[in-house]
Amino acid sequence: MKPAKTSTILSAEAQRRLEYFTERRDPIVSTIRELVEIESPSDNKAAVDRLSEAVASKFAARGGEVRVHRANDFGDHLQVDFAGNAGGKPVLLLGHCDTVYPLGTLASMPCRVVDNKLTGPGVLDMKSGIALMLHSVAALQDWHGKLRRPVTVLLVSDEEVGSDSSRSITESLAKKAAAVLVLEPSYGFEGAVKTARKGVGEYLLKVTGKASHAGLDFEKGVNAILELARQVEKISAFTDLKKGLTVNVGIVSGGSRTNVVPAEATAQVDVRIARLKDAAAIDKKVRGLRPFNRKCKLEITGGINRPPMERTAGVAALYAKAVGIARDLGWKLGEAAVGGGSDGNFTAGLGIPTLDGLGGVGDGAHAIHEHILISELPRRAALVAGLIESV
Ligand SMILES: [Zn+2]
Repeated sequence: MKPAKTSTILSAEAQRRLEYFTERRDPIVSTIRELVEIESPSDNKAAVDRLSEAVASKFAARGGEVRVHRANDFGDHLQVDFAGNAGGKPVLLLGHCDTVYPLGTLASMPCRVVDNKLTGPGVLDMKSGIALMLHSVAALQDWHGKLRRPVTVLLVSDEEVGSDSSRSITESLAKKAAAVLVLEPSYGFEGAVKTARKGVGEYLLKVTGKASHAGLDFEKGVNAILELARQVEKISAFTDLKKGLTVNVGIVSGGSRTNVVPAEATAQVDVRIARLKDAAAIDKKVRGLRPFNRKCKLEITGGINRPPMERTAGVAALYAKAVGIARDLGWKLGEAAVGGGSDGNFTAGLGIPTLDGLGGVGDGAHAIHEHILISELPRRAALVAGLIESV
């Protein structure tokens, strides 16, 4: 870690904060470890609830007012409110408790310290982010007695599976907030924050033809796979890289036996858009597909489910603040535009200044080598604490 500058009063304060979190590095690691060791796959309500209860009790111990949004099919969504001395709109700290890893993953992917790395399922995405929320709020309380401005924490339970059950909660809290800080993983080993994310759409295209015996009645059949193949080529050509718009046919299926003319075929399609203004047009194009062979029927379902997070003036201003705080702490904070979505897409889509990727620094989200860099934790916590105050 580069030494922080100490030439100005502000930097001396930054230095002090950095030392505060450096002294607490081990407790931060312990918190992350505790959270990683409570496995929380999106599809296991009981497991996710166990984690969010543990997290709730930690925030409650710091004086946060816990509110649980019950969900039937997923874990409950956790909201924690902290009052602030100065009043005003709260800062929303946004994240999720669920992970992509099934129960039992810890056995093959244990939470361990190996040199500067902390490993384990969800350690980067995003249990280190939850721990950073906890420790940065606690630090602000230690420094000022009470938070200067109100803070709302929202940890949803279904982010990894599309956020259907939490989206309305995220949006309603974002509308009341001055800004949204998303503690999803940062980008790259330099820990860049994310100032743009693509919007995401998913479509299912189902072709219905007519089955027949491929030998006896070939001409009576209508081949759904042939029709689908033509449609796949057409859909794929909707990609427009200059606009940051991509269309990926990711899964196809169809047919039953080689000697049967197939009556059914389906394609699952992933659409990504960089600009909200492209959403309606691409949706119209996909929905407007018509069969090449009029004897086939097409059914198209799905839509754009996450708007893009665009680098608006509000996002840029928030990023500029973060850069200033990082500079005081002695490092240059970069930014990145990424293709993957998060719940930050929803809040940014409402026009609320949103900065994403403020969580842990590491690599291997959703993969066997998922880890964070322990040495990055102090300045990450100092950055989040600084942003909460200065938004
Ligand atoms: Zn995540």
